[in-house]
Amino acid sequence: MNVTPRTSYGRGPLFMFVCVLALSVCASASPFYIVEVTAPDEVALADLLNCGLTIDNRVDRKVTFYVNEEELEQLKKLSYPLHLLETIPDGSSAEKASGYTSYDQIGPLFSSYANQYPNIVQTGTLGQTPQYREIWAIKITLTPEQEADKPVVKYIAAIHGDEIVGVEMCLYFIQDLLENFGKNPFISDLICKTVIWVVPIMNPDGHAAVSRYSAGKDLNRNFPAYGQHYSTTLFDGEPLGDEKVPVENGCIMRWHVRYPANLCANFHGGALLANYPYDNTPGISSGSPAISPDDDVFRYLALEYSRNNPPMYQSPIFPQGIINGSAWYSITGGMMDWHYRFLGCPELTLEISADKRPPASQLPRFWDENRDAMYAYLSAVHMGIRGLVKDRTTKLPLWAKVMTHDRAQPVFTSRAVGNYHRLLLPGTYNLTYQAPGYITYHADAIAVESSGTTRKDIFLSDGDVNQDGTKDAEDVQAVVNAALGKATSFDADVDGRGLSATDIQAVINAVL
Ligand SMILES: [Zn+2]
Repeated sequence: MNVTPRTSYGRGPLFMFVCVLALSVCASASPFYIVEVTAPDEVALADLLNCGLTIDNRVDRKVTFYVNEEELEQLKKLSYPLHLLETIPDGSSAEKASGYTSYDQIGPLFSSYANQYPNIVQTGTLGQTPQYREIWAIKITLTPEQEADKPVVKYIAAIHGDEIVGVEMCLYFIQDLLENFGKNPFISDLICKTVIWVVPIMNPDGHAAVSRYSAGKDLNRNFPAYGQHYSTTLFDGEPLGDEKVPVENGCIMRWHVRYPANLCANFHGGALLANYPYDNTPGISSGSPAISPDDDVFRYLALEYSRNNPPMYQSPIFPQGIINGSAWYSITGGMMDWHYRFLGCPELTLEISADKRPPASQLPRFWDENRDAMYAYLSAVHMGIRGLVKDRTTKLPLWAKVMTHDRAQPVFTSRAVGNYHRLLLPGTYNLTYQAPGYITYHADAIAVESSGTTRKDIFLSDGDVNQDGTKDAEDVQAVVNAALGKATSFDADVDGRGLSATDIQAVINAVL
């Protein structure tokens, strides 16, 4: 097998030791039960949704739980109608679905793609699981070895190892992209102007065991939780916290930091809907909507997926096949909220099959239903405002925070390239750009059209207005001269709002 180039973001020997401990915990795990509890009324439903046990689905007043023995007894004591759907011995399902791709096939498959399509494919591993499986990733874009000013979209499946339709959809999608490059103009263009990452199996141990979990942990309940583990963002100085989460989650977190995404989706099974942030806001009870600052964008993104997936759109349960995460049922420690709140990347949780493991003969039909949706969702990264943020003098890229007026959630530039991609619906927006050591810059009244992105490159000044390499009184004099209308060879509008006293004040502050 020849995987080139292969990059590992895993850890060393200490990491291996921790994994062995985690394995022994897993081996002693007790059985899990999937039970459906029907709440007799709305008050009982609210109690069920907020009881703190792991919920996997909700349809009206029927709530599906994943519980252990003790938790099952708790539920039974409520005396609500309770239906045992499945018993899972040792945390893994006994029944393997045949005809699906096995974990062992992924590495060789990606290797063959890397050999066959070297100009548009790079493959590697994000790290190793507790049972020493690789978390395979594939990157598809023109000249994948170069980091470029292109938006990044990531598709991740099987964070729950037993939800396997998403794995197959990701594999179909990869194959469709590769086979159509150079043939289908739309797909070729997409590959040229977008960086597409796919991680088909985020939880390989769970996938191999046909289990929701890894080492007894639900990975989608074990990301850092807003309000508990962090309250701002990585950019604002919060620690990443990757050492305190399950191994797989840490791998995903470091990957997102190293190769930041601008749009992401994670694929699940067990329901049919597009679920958008927030899954949780402290103080808002489960079953009530937790609305994010980008609710309009999220509803648009969710509809981009559902409108192109007819069974999802025609859902008899969820209008247009979309729902706010918390309105459905709240979860804490979910990947979607963490990615959006902590790193500013919009992410959706896509439930694409009512049955978690339908017969493999149905997979071509699932691909028919998801193909256009996967392309439409991915293409949505090309909307809103994009650009580069650089140092005005050196022209080097800056890691910057991009704020949109009236929206509390920032997005960030990539450190390597300095590009940002602020997904926004058509309208007029005021943006603010911040980087440590630089004067805050405002770009007002940027128009966003209904197709394509509006380009806005920004050059931040650190106060060295005359660009002589030092910040001193000469810079203050330079900005005063410019404000007085004297001809200058440099741009003294350091805050983006035209030459005025605010520029003079900003430069004085920077020089002091
Ligand atoms: Zn799931």
